[in-house]
Order: sequence, then C-alpha cells, then structure tokens
Amino acid sequence: MNHIKNKTLLAAMLTEGKGLSVFNPFDDSLLAIVKTVNQAQVEDEVLELEVGQVEWQKRSAQDRSNLLKRWHQLILENIDDLARIITLEGGKPLKEALGEVRYGASFIEWFAEEGRRAYGSTIPSPSSDRTLLTVKQAIGVAAAITPWNFPLAMITRKAAPALAAGCSFICKPSELTPLTAIAVTELAYQAGIPKDVLRMVIGDAHDIGEAFTYHSSVRKFSFTGSTLVGRKLQMQCASTIKRTSMELGGNAPFVVFDDADIDSAVQGAIASKFRNAGQTCVCSNRFYVQDSVYDEFVEKLVTAVDKLTVGNGLDDSTDIGPLITLQAKQRVSDLIREAKGRGAKQINKEVQLDGQFVAPTVLVDVEHDRPLVQGEIFGPVLPIIRFSDEDEMIKMANDTIYGLAAYFYSQNMNRIWRVAHNLEYGMVGVNEGIISTEVAPFGGVKQSGKGREGGKEGLEEYLETKYVCIGGLTN
Ligand code: ADP
Repeated sequence: MNHIKNKTLLAAMLTEGKGLSVFNPFDDSLLAIVKTVNQAQVEDEVLELEVGQVEWQKRSAQDRSNLLKRWHQLILENIDDLARIITLEGGKPLKEALGEVRYGASFIEWFAEEGRRAYGSTIPSPSSDRTLLTVKQAIGVAAAITPWNFPLAMITRKAAPALAAGCSFICKPSELTPLTAIAVTELAYQAGIPKDVLRMVIGDAHDIGEAFTYHSSVRKFSFTGSTLVGRKLQMQCASTIKRTSMELGGNAPFVVFDDADIDSAVQGAIASKFRNAGQTCVCSNRFYVQDSVYDEFVEKLVTAVDKLTVGNGLDDSTDIGPLITLQAKQRVSDLIREAKGRGAKQINKEVQLDGQFVAPTVLVDVEHDRPLVQGEIFGPVLPIIRFSDEDEMIKMANDTIYGLAAYFYSQNMNRIWRVAHNLEYGMVGVNEGIISTEVAPFGGVKQSGKGREGGKEGLEEYLETKYVCIGGLTN
C-alpha cells in the first residue's frame, strides 16, 4: 500500500480499529483493515440517500453529466494508483488492472452523455381534446451488490447510469475487494458528487443484502455475482416488488469450426479463457473444436498456453495471477482431479504451484456431463471437446442453465448468422474473444440473469416511464 501516491485515497482506505481485514491474494499479507457497518446503519443510510435523491433528481441532466465527467477525469488521473489497488487486493496482473480502470471509467463517460438523452415521447391521441406523452423519471434509491473480479468496473457500470438517471446509489462491494470501492468513491466525492447521493457500505454480506432487498425505500436493486446468491436476492426483492437487474453466472462455450482462422481462434481462446486467471463470468468455460481442425488448434493452443507466465500481478511479465482465495484454488483443483479421474488428459506442461496459484491447464477427452463442463470453472482450466456436426454442437452449447456469453470462430457468413441466431445467449462473440464495451448491452438470458448494463439499455434500468394524459383541451 505504500506505493499509492494519492495520500487522500490512502487515508480514505485505511481506517483505524476493528473492521474487515483485506488480504493480498499473492502472499496472503494484510493490506488494510476497513470500517464496517451493521444492518441498522445501512437502513439509516438508505433513508439519507432517499432525501439526497430528491435534490439530485431536481438538478439538470447537464449538471449531473458535468459531475460525472469530472469523476471520469479524476479516475483517469489516478489510474496508476487505482490499478495497483486492484492488483493488490484482487491479484489480477497490473496490465489487466489498468485495462479495468479504463473500462470502468468509460461507463461514467458514456452514461454522463446518455443521461442527457433520457427522452420521453409524444403519442398521437385518439381524441382531439387530449394530449398524451411519456416522460422518463429516476426510479429513486438504487442499491447494488458487486463482486471482487472487477472491483472497479462492476461498481461504475451500475453507479454511473443510476446517477446519470437521477437516482441515488448505495453499494456493497465484495468483502474481498473493498479498497478499490472506497478509492473510487472518494474520487467521486472529490469530483463533487454529494455524499447523500453516493455511498459505499462494507460489512456482512447477508445482513446488508437483507437491508437492501427488504427496504421499501430502495426502489431498484442491481446484483452481479453467482446465480445461487442472485436467486436468493431476487426472491427477497419480491417482498417489495423492486425493479431488479441480475448479472449472474455464465458457462460460455467457445466453438472453433472447420472454416475458422485457427491462429485468430487460438489468440481469442487465450484472451477469453485466461483473463483474470479465468475468473470472469464471460470467460470461455468449455471449448468445442470441429474434427478436421482439431489437431491444428490443439497443438497451436498448447504452444501458446505454455508461454504464459504465472506470478505476482505487480510484475510486468505476469499473465496469470493468483486465484482470489485458497478455497477457490481448492475448488478448481477438485474439478481438474474429478475430470482426470473420468479419463480427461492434460496435454500441456503439468506444474504444481504453491499459495493461491493454479497453473494453466489444458484438458482433452473431457466428457460433456462433467462438472468442469456443466458448471462455472472460474479458474485457468481449458477443457476441449471434439465435435463433427454443427447441430450436435449447438445442442451441447445450449445444454446449460446459463446464457451469458458464447464465442465462435468461422469465416462462413451463412454459418455466422445461423449459429449466432441459434445460440441461446445474451452476448455472442464472432471471431472475437473479448467483446464487452460500454457502448453495447451486457447481460444474460436463462439463469444468467436479467437486465442489461452499458449501451443505451443500461440507462433504462434506472428509469421509469411515466405516461401523462392532458385532457379537456380546446382547439
Ligand atoms: P462470487 O462467487 O463471485 O464471489 P457471490 O455471489 O458469492 O459470487 O458474491 C458476489 C457478491 O455477493 C459479493 O459482494 C458477496 O459479498 C455478495 N453475497 C454473497 N452472499 C450473499 C448473501 N447471502 N446476501 C447478499 N450478498 C451476498
């Protein structure tokens, strides 16, 4: 932490006394102890934000936009500190952390602009004495719970549209990565975003989850995390009929057809599989490769995988950092062991690593019904399945409760349209392994969730449509 240059950020993160201990996944060293709040305090904070929201929505969209743009600018001015904090508490390589800061900031700029375009409409009236129109209004207090794998971007992707729309925003970041959340919020305050409009609360996940989901003043709840927890929170939100957005788990297939550009497919596979050590919900989870290109793809892939460097995220040469916790490593190691016990073979260099590290692992002869293929791996493991027929492959790709991202490689235009249409996923990457951007809607179908973040759809999640009928008009 002593490399953080911005001393105000440092002071905001380091609080004295009892609270939550934050550890570095690289060596398990203690980074900081942060202040926590209890359920009753969170409920009080929601009430403060309810008051703050009234004034916030009265401000002009231009005014809110200016403050968001200032926040965006401050994040970029502090990019090195923020990236370092992300790497220290989350373990991801610094080059990826820098990318996350830029990506996270891009949502603030995008929604600062989109907020000025929250257009309503006029409706041709069926009778001449009435004028009909719609206006877009902020929902009210928005609450969110975010995960550790993108500790900055998952916050800004929700906070920016909420604030741009005129909502106030309260968030519980993951207990594993609260420092980035505190730092990015401190920058928002420095930008002039009022404290009764934006709040970060750290504490017991279950208690804060209840405070958010049962509170009648919280009108919108947005969650990014596992399907298991999302399902529970969605049910809790039912008691007050809240608007919800759920960005949940994924099980992305990555398909290489016989008409693919194999070098480009290998590059895309590496990018989409090993980003953040495989710990993202859009990481490719299972690979399907068509017969005639199978050997070429697998050989080139293994060559590329064996060049990846595993190590401390702060080292420039690192491609893969540690997993977030020791339990995460245990879970991933168990999945590998289970698949191998059922005949899967590792075809790249086998390396055992200490601490929270898992070496990249490429497995072939994996059965489709193994937990490795059916569930989310969240680690640097790449299982490959051979296929011959397109229809059979589509069936396997869709044979999951999840529907977040899917990827495939083909140079045939007919096939591209057909397969993109037939994959039951919220996002499809064609000849691309990394597809997320602030200008496009991110989100899933089936049990991967509901709602979209980013794009023009992202703002709608924080707006209500009000219909106004003005009657008794004379011509
Ligand atoms: P992951 O596997 O990515 O950690 P989780 O769904 O466990 O996914 O965690 C995502 C977020 O949900 C974190 O902020 C975590 O603290 C929070 N969380 C976990 N369990 C609960 C719960 N029972 N109620 C509310 N929030 C929870």
